[in-house]
Amino acid sequence: MGDKVVLTENLDSVSEILPRSCEFIRPPVANVNQMIVVLSLVSPAVDLRLVDTMLFYIETKEIEPVICINKCDLDAGDSYTMVQKIYEKAGYRVIVTSAKEGEGKDELTEILKDKITAFAGNSGVGKSSLLNLIENEFELETGEVSHKVERGKHTTRHVELLSLPFGGFVLDTPGFGKIDLPKMEKEKIKYYMREMRDYNDACMFRGCNHISEKGCAVIKAVNEGKIAASRHESYLAFFEELKNYKDWTDK
Ligand code: GDP
Ligand code: ZN
Repeated sequence: MGDKVVLTENLDSVSEILPRSCEFIRPPVANVNQMIVVLSLVSPAVDLRLVDTMLFYIETKEIEPVICINKCDLDAGDSYTMVQKIYEKAGYRVIVTSAKEGEGKDELTEILKDKITAFAGNSGVGKSSLLNLIENEFELETGEVSHKVERGKHTTRHVELLSLPFGGFVLDTPGFGKIDLPKMEKEKIKYYMREMRDYNDACMFRGCNHISEKGCAVIKAVNEGKIAASRHESYLAFFEELKNYKDWTDK
């Protein structure tokens, strides 16, 4: 059912789709063009810094991220709207799902249609469950024998692309559960924070790093609630973490 593919180092693009044993050869190059960052609010609780780190990473790869808040059948009070707002304000599409009860399946289906999608998110948030929710539909349509997604068994870089009955593919192996910050000079981080793009040129000083500078348009936007404080905090943390990084090749 899935095609064997070869992934580039970071599991973010498909460099080659291997021929099926006795069938046709697929077009040689396809890129993952979408990543669904899955999170849950309870069990496990959301780690906004980790989500922002993933988004930062994805933004450097020209892949479109979509945020998926899963386990919406579990009670988390107001946090659903709170987290949804944080990321919608930042310019991302946010969907709310329950892999357990099938909530949000239609919206997820619409998002996956005709794209090559990888799932990301820390362990236990429901990536495999969401995949199974979608995959079941595939089995219904084709009536093929049940195909169990093998988890944690990929020692090589070959993973499977599951082809979706409504068009598109899904990687059967979730991308990064743990992730390092992309290496770049701290002054460049702001270009990968989507909501800062509108403000980068609006500060009083050119080259403003949006930390505590006078006349900073980003800080003003944070104070006015136009940029989520948690996103700005993540930005400050990235800035701090990359403060000693120097790209000697970039001269
Ligand atoms: P993964 O590590 O991200 O692939 O997460 P899994 O798909 O393995 O799910 C982890 C646990 O959460 C499993 O026990 C699932 O049954 C459960 N789970 C997944 N999605 C949901 C959901 O929408 N609601 C609830 N209540 N539990 C879920
Ligand atoms: Zn500024």
